[in-house]
Amino acid sequence: MSQAAEKGTLYVISAPSGAGKTSLVAEMLARDERLRVSVSHTTRPMRPGEQDGVNYHFVQREDFEAMIGRNEFLEHANVFGNYYGTSQVWVEETLAKGEDVILEIDWQGAVQVRRLMPECVSIFIVPPSPETLRQRLTGRGQDAPEVIERRLQEAADECSHALEFDYLVVNDDFEVALEELLSIVRTQRLRVEAQEQRHADLLADLVAGGSAYTN
Ligand code: GDP
Ligand code: ADP
Ligand code: 5GP
Repeated sequence: MSQAAEKGTLYVISAPSGAGKTSLVAEMLARDERLRVSVSHTTRPMRPGEQDGVNYHFVQREDFEAMIGRNEFLEHANVFGNYYGTSQVWVEETLAKGEDVILEIDWQGAVQVRRLMPECVSIFIVPPSPETLRQRLTGRGQDAPEVIERRLQEAADECSHALEFDYLVVNDDFEVALEELLSIVRTQRLRVEAQEQRHADLLADLVAGGSAYTN
């Protein structure tokens, strides 16, 4: 009898802009070959160094609205005045292949995904202080000063949703935060629901073992 393919786990990661989620997620992918990140669609302008199809699928507002009309998004939200959304087909196909998927989305998107896929694992990342967030956003040097101000103004609102998540990670020392995120992923893979299918034959042998234990 062929076993159904084991489905991947969906991770939802949110944080105030500048907390370090994109850098942390990039490093998680580099260290764990079973992780994939969803490339969102957005109407925000491309930053220097960003590539269409890599950091985001950059689209016009009319095209984004047409995609909403065709129900192509698992979730979508207006963040800092721009649309952002996650492709439903890509997420479902990737999970079906048994790969773990990370969504880097805002708290409004996290609410929608939790409702649709309650089995997802959600993680909130915070900076060690408000001052550090300002330094990181300024130091990243990729957004206009007024864009940075708007993101800082909305940081408190984003952080007010931290307790709705399953896990909270403080990104003070990058390596420590990275290890904490990877340990959440590793722990998830050890849950009985995941291990049961993976080790079905072993468990059956151990239960039916009978005389094999005594010989
Ligand atoms: P950064 O996170 O500071 O680098 O800024 P971005 O412009 O990349 O993202 C802006 C906001 O949009 C963040 O809060 C993201 O979490 C959120 N975001 C990005 N992609 C998505 C998405 O597909 N869906 C939703 N709901 N939010 C998204
Ligand atoms: P986000 O995706 O949450 O907006 P980024 O990953 O773009 O955040 O990080 C914002 C800035 O802070 C980047 O310049 C990044 O290199 C820097 N950064 C991220 N984590 C740390 C850390 N632990 N210590 C110092 N700088 C960091
Ligand atoms: P940035 O424009 O700096 O790349 O992202 C700003 C914010 O948008 C980030 O906090 C990010 O998490 C959020 N974001 C990016 N993609 C999505 C998405 O597909 N859905 C939602 N809801 N938020 C997103």
